[in-house]
Amino acid sequence: MSWPIEQTGIGRIVVPPSLPARFALFYTTIDFDGRLDQDAAATLMGIVRDRFGIDATLSTCVQVHGKSVVRATGDAGWRECDSCDALFSSDSGTAIGIKVADCLPITIADMDRGVIANVHSGWRGAVQKIVAEAVDAVGPVGANAQAWLGPSIRVCCFEVGEEVVDEFRASYAEAESFIDRSGVKPHIDLPGLTTALLLERGFAPKHIHDSGLCTRCDGSIFHSYRRARGGRNLAIAAH
Ligand SMILES: [Zn+2]
Repeated sequence: MSWPIEQTGIGRIVVPPSLPARFALFYTTIDFDGRLDQDAAATLMGIVRDRFGIDATLSTCVQVHGKSVVRATGDAGWRECDSCDALFSSDSGTAIGIKVADCLPITIADMDRGVIANVHSGWRGAVQKIVAEAVDAVGPVGANAQAWLGPSIRVCCFEVGEEVVDEFRASYAEAESFIDRSGVKPHIDLPGLTTALLLERGFAPKHIHDSGLCTRCDGSIFHSYRRARGGRNLAIAAH
């Protein structure tokens, strides 16, 4: 099922279909010039309240392409956590936001246990297995745990050098099956590799939802670093 674009009062958002109750997830191109502040956070929390019926406080990260996962709490006011690339929360009333331009945003929700996570995974994060770190932080993967893979650069456009391929090979035994060598340079299928990791960690195939959207080439509404080098997309999850 494709993920429809919705128009809000302040811009377009993409909302995955069939979200669990008391859980919000959307992707937006409202990039605030790549910077968030209290006003921008309040605007985003307005969407969470109006579209999803959840009152929440936003936490985001100063992202560094690392593998640190930080717990977010529903404190008063927007908070940007130091030097991390993933957030998780078990407090309702908490929203967690990830900034991406071509990197892959991965969101996890286990509503049976009331825990959610949001992850920024570019190639550097992927070779450090930040998604595995986030799954560990969230706790045992329950039968109804779900994951969403948002708009990102896809195998069609994610051309890399052999030195990057070598890093993937060092981290993932199965890396070669996610590299397309039909062109001049190798292309990596980051969503494919991430899906394999989630399956290995116990997520049911039917609970892994992939947007299939390529930020660079499919005429999507999203910003792409490789296409234009300006603007960021936001992945916002809340419960
Ligand atoms: Zn593409």
